[in-house]
Amino acid sequence: MDCLFCSIVDGLIPSKKVYETDDVLCFYDIAPVAPVHVLIVPKKHIDSVHQIGAEDVALVGQIHQAAQAVADQLGIADSGYRLVTNCGKDAGQEVFHLHYHLVGGGRLSHFGQTDIHTG
Ligand code: 5GP
Ligand code: ZN
Repeated sequence: MDCLFCSIVDGLIPSKKVYETDDVLCFYDIAPVAPVHVLIVPKKHIDSVHQIGAEDVALVGQIHQAAQAVADQLGIADSGYRLVTNCGKDAGQEVFHLHYHLVGGGRLSHFGQTDIHTG
């Protein structure tokens, strides 16, 4: 399968690694939208959050634990951060390998109704 994040997980495409476990890889986003912007990626290929199966429940927990470790390591656990996953076309998902954006390191605009585009 031709998948960008599988290629990064396999080391075929370089990434700036922040944190890694047996099952999860965390690396800097190539186009950061905040002072800290790290991608939290399961090594197992799953298309999006909507394809997470019952057998992946433990992996979802590991992803969240990895996010905590990244925030601790980068010193933004106390100031706070946002963990976001885009699912499908309307959310603007571009890479169809499940990933969570961990963004922080500065005050973020509030996520809410104003993020919905109509027309
Ligand atoms: P999505 O839009 O699918 O939620 O997020 C995909 C993210 O992957 C984007 O924020 C984009 O900047 C990032 N990205 C795309 N290609 C690469 C790459 O080759 N390396 C890294 N580190 N990030 C990438
Ligand atoms: Zn993949």
